[in-house]
Amino acid sequence: MATKSKSKSKSKTTPRLKIRRGDLVEVLSGKDVGRRGKVLEVIPEDRRVIIENINIVKRHTKPRPVKGTRGAQMTPGGVLDMAAAMRIDNVALVCPSCNVATRVGYRITESGEKVRHCRRPGCNKDIEK
Ligand SMILES: [Zn+2]
Repeated sequence: MATKSKSKSKSKTTPRLKIRRGDLVEVLSGKDVGRRGKVLEVIPEDRRVIIENINIVKRHTKPRPVKGTRGAQMTPGGVLDMAAAMRIDNVALVCPSCNVATRVGYRITESGEKVRHCRRPGCNKDIEK
């Protein structure tokens, strides 16, 4: 009756990433260098991000039943343009205040909240919305 633990140990700390879902980022290297897009997904374990309209790959799919519809609905098959994950080191956050791909720092507010801020000299504004 041993319970099999399949989940990863919780003590393993998730790397703290400076890029979050919904951020606007600029691509620093690769075929999409210089382009900007919104972060759709962050995968901390892999240090990867998925960015809207960046790093597009063609994915061939077959029609499949949509979950929860008992096969009443099918997903359309065909070739889909999908945004593939890319390395988080290859993108930089675009500061909403100065509109430049920038380095990000953290600071603690008076209420103890951790907020990101732009480290560009002369800007230094908080990045949180
Ligand atoms: Zn800035």
